[in-house]
Amino acid sequence: GKREGRGTFRVFEDAMDTELRERAALEAELREAVERGEIEPFYQPVVALPGRDCVGFEVLARWRHPTRGLLGPDQFIGIAEETGMIADLSYRLLQQACRDAVSWPSHLQLAINIAPQQFQDRGLAQRLLGILAETGFSPRRLEVEITESALVQDLEAARTTLTSLQNLGVRIALDDFGTGYSSLYHLRELKFDKLKIDRSYVDTITLSEERAKLVDAIISLGRSLGLVTTAEGIETDASVDWLSGQGCDFGQGYLFGKPMPKEEIDTLLEAGP
Ligand code: C2E
Ligand code: CA
Ligand code: CA
Ligand code: CA
Repeated sequence: GKREGRGTFRVFEDAMDTELRERAALEAELREAVERGEIEPFYQPVVALPGRDCVGFEVLARWRHPTRGLLGPDQFIGIAEETGMIADLSYRLLQQACRDAVSWPSHLQLAINIAPQQFQDRGLAQRLLGILAETGFSPRRLEVEITESALVQDLEAARTTLTSLQNLGVRIALDDFGTGYSSLYHLRELKFDKLKIDRSYVDTITLSEERAKLVDAIISLGRSLGLVTTAEGIETDASVDWLSGQGCDFGQGYLFGKPMPKEEIDTLLEAGP
């Protein structure tokens, strides 16, 4: 009846209230965490193929939340992007990562993820340069990973940022390659240094020969344009063998190492290769 209907609606409203309140609380906590520098860089190894020597790390954000435990980027990067906190978050993360990595052997590179809206910011190269200068971390050891969504809004702004970063010696990787709308268009319009083949492709190579051919084609495409390729999300030796055979330059995935805190990297580096 009518009364029951209203009751149901009230329950629904309460549920929405709770969700909104939780989201508002998380947002406020995130703001504080960013200001206090509590977003922590984790490091996932990147290896050269076929030898599997570590050449550096991708920096991946983690939030050590006082009550919710260790949170992954899926739980807070979206909020940071929507609320405009992402720039501060990511500058502080880079600053921390450069401080951590400046004492690591100098052949080890760092790759950082830059959100689409940051890439549209004409001050980006200057901000990065400031952090590099302050921490003493060489721009030649830094790679910036962007996705195609960084390019669609304003291609000219993206081109300017890309060129100024490359002029500093920073390399640019096109991340999640193959998942965007117009990958070939962007490859034609902009000069990247690296293609990162998305995990969803890497996952398929052992499934069927047809699917593997697509990955093979991406590697060839990269090579013919003078770009190096990294395959993401490698979990098996069979994948490594196949990717190495096709001429993929670098690999990343749980097989070589999960994202780890600084302390674990320090221990690994002390133990030697
Ligand atoms: P991404 O840039 O594609 O990063 C790779 C993701 O794949 C990481 O997830 C990594 O832990 C995961 N991964 C690596 N190897 C394997 C594997 O072998 N198997 C499986 N199943 N997964 C693997 P994570 O750390 O949860 O990051 C998720 C995404 O969050 C990243 O995807 C990136 O888009 C974003 N992100 C992370 N840190 C930052 C940041 O500082 N700034 C921005 N803007 N985005 C970030
Ligand atoms: Ca990435
Ligand atoms: Ca990726
Ligand atoms: Ca991805």
